[in-house]
Amino acid sequence: MADIVVVGAGIAGLAAAERLLQQEPGADIVVLEGSSRVGGKLHVGELAGQQIDLGAEAVLARRPEAVGLIDQLGLTRESPAAVGASLWSRGALRTMPQGTLMGIPADASTLAGVLDADEVSRAAHEQPVHVEGDLSLGSLVEQALGPAVVDRLIEPLLGGVYAGDARKLSAQACLPAAYDAVAAGGTLTALAARAAHAPRSDAPVFASLAGGIGGLPIALAQHLAAKGVTIETGAMVREIAYITNGFELTVGSAREPRTLRAEAVVLAAPAAPTARLLRDIAPDSAQALAAIDYASMVLVSYAFERGAIPDDTSGFLVPPVEGRDIKASTFSSAKWPWLRTALPAYDVVRVSFGRAGEVHTLQRPDEELAAAGLADLAGALGRALPAPVDTRVQRWGGGLPQYAVGHLDRVAAIRAGLPAGLAVAGAAYDGVGIPACIASAHRASDQLLTRLAGTTQESEE
Ligand SMILES: Cc1cc2nc3c(=O)[nH]c(=O)nc-3n(C[C@H](O)[C@H](O)[C@H](O)COP(=O)(O)OP(=O)(O)OC[C@H]3O[C@@H](n4cnc5c(N)ncnc54)[C@H](O)[C@@H]3O)c2cc1C
Repeated sequence: MADIVVVGAGIAGLAAAERLLQQEPGADIVVLEGSSRVGGKLHVGELAGQQIDLGAEAVLARRPEAVGLIDQLGLTRESPAAVGASLWSRGALRTMPQGTLMGIPADASTLAGVLDADEVSRAAHEQPVHVEGDLSLGSLVEQALGPAVVDRLIEPLLGGVYAGDARKLSAQACLPAAYDAVAAGGTLTALAARAAHAPRSDAPVFASLAGGIGGLPIALAQHLAAKGVTIETGAMVREIAYITNGFELTVGSAREPRTLRAEAVVLAAPAAPTARLLRDIAPDSAQALAAIDYASMVLVSYAFERGAIPDDTSGFLVPPVEGRDIKASTFSSAKWPWLRTALPAYDVVRVSFGRAGEVHTLQRPDEELAAAGLADLAGALGRALPAPVDTRVQRWGGGLPQYAVGHLDRVAAIRAGLPAGLAVAGAAYDGVGIPACIASAHRASDQLLTRLAGTTQESEE
């Protein structure tokens, strides 16, 4: 019997195994990954002969969890260039307004251009909002500052993180500071002003790795394997059942399943497979998990001969009201100096498709998506582009969980319904960003270790 099995080798599963190993160096830890590779949404692949990220591309460096892991593994952090992002709004690429908190302005006049004069005036006259329990962030901001702030700023910025619909995503889960400020009788504008004037370090906000942040789970898995953790790929967990003092997992193909026993289990898979695994042993948790929707996305990366793409912006976001196909573009060579150095003859750009509910996006063939991305890029830049020298289409079905209104209660219900010895970790719970996934893994591991220490003590008494 293994001491602990971790289901899923995305960043959350691997971080859970690392935490368990650190706290309990002698423990027998097994990580079971259903696909053929570790990393989940962190994934590198080749474009024009260079390894680049085909999934997540950076970690927030202002939180300690991800950069801590990078440093601990002895990897070198790469910082983005000091170029700002843009917004493709009202037919032109415009500098992203400065001093907003996820699109909430500290000073409405900074939104001129992105918003018209009437919309700026509405945003400048913030209305009090009475909140009683969770509501959507879109609804909160719309009542306070008007619909245009939601349509042209909150939507693209929130969409950049959640690929979601601001009028459905939970204010309490996605921007708790905004909810709390309004609930306490304050204003959103004052909150954004405080955030804009807070003392700030000069340290870069984001970090990545040369060759892509997708190298992080690979390095972590190698580190864990060297320390004796068993990591199996192609090991899909199909069922979990109770046994005395633990759990029995059914693993592998339906035709040739095998079983594995463990005292405790960390479930670090997305919500839908986790719900299936918990159906019999934790039905209430399974039901709450099944209510979490996911947005699917497609990323198309292009390499152009150098000079096709400007260097003075890191890319742009597109508000859904613009009616374009793409929702964002990253000018990767301009954003990441490591990539400019590694691939000096080319400009690498990526565009993303797919907001919550846009399932049809994933049904379009690769060539059609690649062509649509090129057309939108040319439209944003206001000129025709040369044919790319290389193109790569990466689909992310079920890419990002949607934190709908009531998310915090749903997560509390999921955790409350779990039997002792089982814990959950990953993007479905306390934040979709990589640092938040790592934090949820630490929380799950610590909870299980406390429980295992308790059982050992009981059996010794
Ligand atoms: C396109 C895209 C870009 C993103 N960009 C960023 C970014 O730049 N910065 C950032 O911070 N965040 C970003 N995110 C979000 C972040 O990458 C993810 O939220 C995070 O990586 C999720 O990690 P996870 O371990 O929770 O889940 P996953 O990465 O989904 O890993 C779960 C693993 O579980 C496995 N699994 C599923 N079912 C089973 C089973 N039954 N048995 C065994 N294994 C199973 C899966 O195969 C998978 O490997 C992005 C997300 C996407 C989709």
